[in-house]
Amino acid sequence: MIDRDLAARLVVAAHRRVRDHREELSRLDSVAGDGDHGVNMATALAEAARRAEQGDHSTPADVMRAAGSAFHETVGGAAGALFGSFFGALAGQLSRSEEPDARQLVAGLEKGLARVARVGKSEPGHKTMIDALAPAVRAARESLDRGDDLEFVMATAARAARRGARATAAMRPSAGRARFAPDHSLGTEDPGANTVALVLESWAEQLSSEVRV
Ligand code: ADP
Ligand code: MG
Repeated sequence: MIDRDLAARLVVAAHRRVRDHREELSRLDSVAGDGDHGVNMATALAEAARRAEQGDHSTPADVMRAAGSAFHETVGGAAGALFGSFFGALAGQLSRSEEPDARQLVAGLEKGLARVARVGKSEPGHKTMIDALAPAVRAARESLDRGDDLEFVMATAARAARRGARATAAMRPSAGRARFAPDHSLGTEDPGANTVALVLESWAEQLSSEVRV
């Protein structure tokens, strides 16, 4: 079960992880983009974590919705709007249930992926965050359908996201700023795909640490 406090801990975990990789994310973005991705994501997630910890949200959906708003309000870049849309769609799905569990979370990830693809007009293979998110969501769905629990589902999703992010190194970008210099980024992973992997890894680790206590 995902309650309000767990949702807040997931947002805080995501912030810590992305903050710790801020320089690396900006370095990836500097190869074919403008080098601001790490700062963009760390800034938005710092605000998302601040809002989550404020405690004036009563449901997990409220926490995720506030995180989405933090992305929209603090970051001007493409990824701000796209991650904001992702968290917003996830919140929308979680709000349909009083006590969301792994099923609602996976459905929320699917809604998030669909929203990002629609807003960004991007598909797998365009060398974007979609190339980590799409395989992660597919793996999460398969894991859930096999009967795995929340912790296992998220660990499976995180591994698929990381594999997806690694695979972007071999792609030429056809979306976002990087598409203007398609050859520059050959051999370098997409920054947004890395952020997706970091966020899902932080969620998987948070969930596994909770189960053991
Ligand atoms: P900006 O490109 O505006 O500087 P960021 O540097 O924060 O924004 O984010 C760049 C990341 O955003 C890319 O690595 C990519 O993953 C993602 N991105 C950009 N445009 C799109 C798009 N149209 N669809 C999906 N993801 C995108
Ligand atoms: Mg950038």
